[in-house]
Amino acid sequence: MDRQQEHVLRSIQEKDVRFVRLWFTDVIGTLKSVAIAPAELEEAFEEGIGFDGSSIEGLARVVEADMLAHPDASTFQILPGRSEDGVVARLFCDITTRDGEPARSDPRYVLRRALERASDMGFGFYTHPEIEFYLFHPSNDPDIDFRPIDRAGYFDHSARSVAQDFRRDAVAALESMNIPVEFSHHESGPGQNEIDLRYTDALSMADNIMTFRTVIQEVAISQGVVASFMPKPLIEHPGSGMHTHMSLFEGDRNVFYDPSGTYLLSATARKFMAGLLEHSRSIAAITNQHVNSYKRLWAGDEAPSFVSWGHNNRSALVRVPALRQGKPQSARIEYRAIDSAANPYLAFAVLLNAGIDGIERNLELPDEALDDVMALTRNERRALGIRSLPGNLEQALSLMHDSELVADTLGEEAFEFFLRNKEQEWQGYRNQVTPFERERFLPIN
Ligand code: GLN
Ligand code: MG
Ligand code: MG
Ligand code: MG
Repeated sequence: MDRQQEHVLRSIQEKDVRFVRLWFTDVIGTLKSVAIAPAELEEAFEEGIGFDGSSIEGLARVVEADMLAHPDASTFQILPGRSEDGVVARLFCDITTRDGEPARSDPRYVLRRALERASDMGFGFYTHPEIEFYLFHPSNDPDIDFRPIDRAGYFDHSARSVAQDFRRDAVAALESMNIPVEFSHHESGPGQNEIDLRYTDALSMADNIMTFRTVIQEVAISQGVVASFMPKPLIEHPGSGMHTHMSLFEGDRNVFYDPSGTYLLSATARKFMAGLLEHSRSIAAITNQHVNSYKRLWAGDEAPSFVSWGHNNRSALVRVPALRQGKPQSARIEYRAIDSAANPYLAFAVLLNAGIDGIERNLELPDEALDDVMALTRNERRALGIRSLPGNLEQALSLMHDSELVADTLGEEAFEFFLRNKEQEWQGYRNQVTPFERERFLPIN
């Protein structure tokens, strides 16, 4: 056992922890949890906890189903708000086969592998997501539009509102778990909120996002409302994106910063951006993995539909936020397509590798989009060489299918499983006959 593991075992005694939850994530981004008694943790550190991998989406074929979950001691945290029945702690796990080989379709492993490759080039990858979500009144009928808990809008401050109490409790819960929050505010849609997590390395951030989603659900339940990360829940109102700010560091130095570069960005940052633009269409199935994701991307409301970049241009797919001279640490670029329902491990892995590919191949950044690209005509966009993001999940899957970059990043198993699973989602969706169609085509008397 190493010192970090010993420290966790000591904390468990000191804090009188009654339950230890071991968390991991399936390929689609669902959080999985198995609870063990604190006394079992020492053995879990040493040998892992066995489970049936074939019951987890995408993890293993039935013939090689036995898997082990190895808790990562660095992720030990006490869960907030449950102390009446005994303190509960959680740790994220890495998954291996019985022989100790990393499970190839463990999303955490997919991201670790991408990070390791970047690290061999000397880079650490840092991210900061702006997570948007809606708060609704509880409802049992998915056919009726969910009712938002308020009618407020962007940055609205309403005294003693549910949303404000909600954000206060949510931020407190997150911070108690060492997940620092940078901003939180009401977003444009009724009942829509945004919480921005402070920059950290991409692996911790992916863990933090998974934690965030369940903490937010729990705080919502405690206040009698429901939280939804669905990308586009309401026809008339903006969708929920997860704009992600990214930068590469060499040790303490942000390699995206160059005081003499345009918008204070370095040549490396420009190539990284060029790589993101180059691959944005083929990684869309990962950054926007649901049928519903494409309804957000194509509804306007500041979600990008086209492949372009800009400085303070909110129609752009990649945006360079305004930077201040002399703040090198904050040089970054913002990827705006990704939504709040993405699997953060897989999404960060493909974003990183897309950017790294731009660096390795010295890709040149196209001209900046100066106009609102949504307002241009099709011909104007064609003349500028501005391509479209996929219009639906089927197109996104077909682009992903042909992408070597995504195949290499995910590895064969996760790649194939993901495509299969999502083709089923598309098929299920295509079989629907919607109210839209019935209204248009059935004679109504
Ligand atoms: N909700 C918008 C989206 O889906 C973003 C709005 C904003 O933060 N500017 O991307
Ligand atoms: Mg924001
Ligand atoms: Mg926002
Ligand atoms: Mg943003």
